[in-house]
Order: sequence, then structure tokens, then C-alpha cells
Amino acid sequence: MTVDLGMPATPPPVLAERRKTRQLMVGSVGVGSEFPVSVQSMTTTVTADINATLQQIAELTASGCDIVRVACPSQDDADALAAIARKSQIPVIADIHFQPKYVFAAIEAGCAAVRVNPGNIKKFDDKVREIAQAARDHGTPIRIGVNAGSLDPRLLAKYGKPTPEALVESALWEASLFAEHDFHDIKISVKHHDPVVMVRAYEMLAEQCDYPLHLGVTEAGPAFQGTIKSSVAFGALLAKGIGDTIRVSLSAPPVEEVKVGIQILQSLNLRPRKLEIVSCPSCGRAQVDVYKLAEEVTAGLEGMEIPLRVAVMGCVVNGPGEAREADLGVASGNGKGQIFVKGQVVKTVPESKIVETLIEEAMRIAEEMTESGELAAGVGQPVVTVS
Ligand code: SF4
Repeated sequence: MTVDLGMPATPPPVLAERRKTRQLMVGSVGVGSEFPVSVQSMTTTVTADINATLQQIAELTASGCDIVRVACPSQDDADALAAIARKSQIPVIADIHFQPKYVFAAIEAGCAAVRVNPGNIKKFDDKVREIAQAARDHGTPIRIGVNAGSLDPRLLAKYGKPTPEALVESALWEASLFAEHDFHDIKISVKHHDPVVMVRAYEMLAEQCDYPLHLGVTEAGPAFQGTIKSSVAFGALLAKGIGDTIRVSLSAPPVEEVKVGIQILQSLNLRPRKLEIVSCPSCGRAQVDVYKLAEEVTAGLEGMEIPLRVAVMGCVVNGPGEAREADLGVASGNGKGQIFVKGQVVKTVPESKIVETLIEEAMRIAEEMTESGELAAGVGQPVVTVS
């Protein structure tokens, strides 16, 4: 049976137009209002261990990471940058603190961009002319990465603590030094661990410049807390069109950061949704184990690249409605599951067969979409709902 996916060709709505910015290229990835919001992460390996670092970059690439940052705290790390930048499949940004000489090493090594932290590089301002010259010669953008934990001591003395005003003043001061040398290939971040301070700082920065902004809640914490803090803060900013690239900082493997970042963008329709499980929270009316069902369906469809909404619902109260709205769904009850495909009941199966039937149907839809060329055209937002 051929399934009419009935997908709209128009893009899904977003909450706000992107703030207009300058555009720049981080290797092959465009950053700015004319390009999609990109997702970044950072390796946790010793950069000088080239194989381990490239292995982690490969994992990040497979998880959907657009740009990766590597730390460069020693000469051995600086020496490894050329090989890493050459072999990585995604653009590599070198992250430099303390030693200006590594900024030049990273540019020479062919890194796609360099992140500098003016608060942590002694006499940084004296080096701006040379850095701008080297970066211009190599076409390397610079991220001015201001961080509450390492604010320029002059501004810390002036404001007493890393307020939004202090973070913004630091960033704009450094950007102005580059601008004096006619260098504008800059993106800026003003990170703070407190989402309220961070959001305010980015709002102020967005009003005062047109550089692309890299969003981050720094030291956001372990996975659960960090995910919530980053989601809330990024959501508040992205909902106003502020933010051109994001990094979710978690005390967790970097692949987890990428997954969260992608989910945030998908939730705001800033990136096409792929697999979306719509499952109910369950309640006293549930006639199946919704948690188990949702988990099994999620695990069975993990890695599916097609945009598909799957509804997994626990009873007949909202089940048929949600299942009908999804690309694929099940409304459960009385030990059975009614399987919906694009609003139509295609079969009723015993509870024990619900998961395998949903997975089979999802695979069939994926195959049909691939054959019809719908995926290549980038059209379609299938949805699976579990109730
Ligand atoms: S769909 Fe049914 S089981 Fe699930 S939360 Fe709603 S009423 Fe409860």
C-alpha cells in the first residue's frame, strides 16, 4: 500500500526571524543569519593524542555535530592541530587561553577558526594587530569568547562581578580592537553559568553589534541540570532570533551535548525534525505500560534519519486523536493497539506486537520516502506518537 504522507512543502513556522548579522565561514560551515544555526561541541581528549582526538571527532560528526573545538594548552597540542584539522570531517576550532603564541600556531595549522579568551591572554590587546593580520592572511575567523569565570581583571574591578554589562563591555572592547585593524570576521560569546545573566548579556550584545553570536551557558552542570539550563537560556534567545551557533556544555560525554543541541533546534523548528516520539505521560487510565512501550519504540527507531512523528498513547482518551495526527501511531486499550498510518487505522494488533509493528511500519514509510525522492528534496515532517 502506498502511503500518502501529505507533507507540506512550506517550511514549518518559527517564533522569530533571525537577527541580521554579518556572515562568516568556519571552514565549510557558514555562521550568521543567512545560515542555519549550527551545533558545536568540544573534545575531551588530550589534543596531542591525535588518534584519540580524531576518534572522538568522528563520533561527534556521526552524532550530527557541525563544528568541533579542541583545547590547546601546550606546545604538543599546538603541534597536533595541523593533522587534526586536515583529517577531521568537520571544521576544527582551536581554543586558546593564556598563550598568544598558540593563536598563531592554530592559524598556521589551518584550523577553521580560533577561539580566544581576552581575559586569559596576558597583554592580549597588544597582540591584536598581529593576530588580525595572521587571521586575515589565512582567512581564519576569530571567536572572542568572554567567560564569566575569566573576565578581564580591569572589568572585574570596574563592575565588581561578571555582570551582563561587564561581559558585553569586554567582548565589544576586544571586537573594537580588531575592527581598528579592519578585521571583522568575528563571532562573539559572553557565557555565564546563570541563564538569567547569560540571556541578558546576549540580549544586550545583540542590540549593540551585528556580529554572529555563539550561545553557551558555561559550566551548566551535569546532564540533567545542564540540559535544562541550556534549553531554557537558548530557547529564550533563539525564540527572539538571537544566536547563530550553539554549544550545550555538559559534564557528560560530548556526544550528549550534540544530541541536546540538535533537539533544542528541532524543538524550535530551526532544524528539520527527524524522529519525534509523541508519547503520553500515562495516568490511571492507561491500559498498557506506556513508559516501556515508548522506550522500546524509541530504541527500535534510534538512528532513523527520516523525519517521522510517532505517537505512542496509553488509552482511548487522547490516543486516537494523537495517533491520527502523527505519521505513525498506536492507540492502546484492552490489550490491543490500533496502528495508525497517516490518520488511517491500518491494523489492530495484540499488545505484544505493538512495538514490532510500529518499527515495521516506520521502516516501510522510510523506504517509500527514500524511493519517492522526498527525503532528497528535504520535504516532509513525519511524526510517530505513543499514547
Ligand atoms: S492518553 Fe490516556 S493514558 Fe495517556 S495520559 Fe492521556 S488519558 Fe492517560
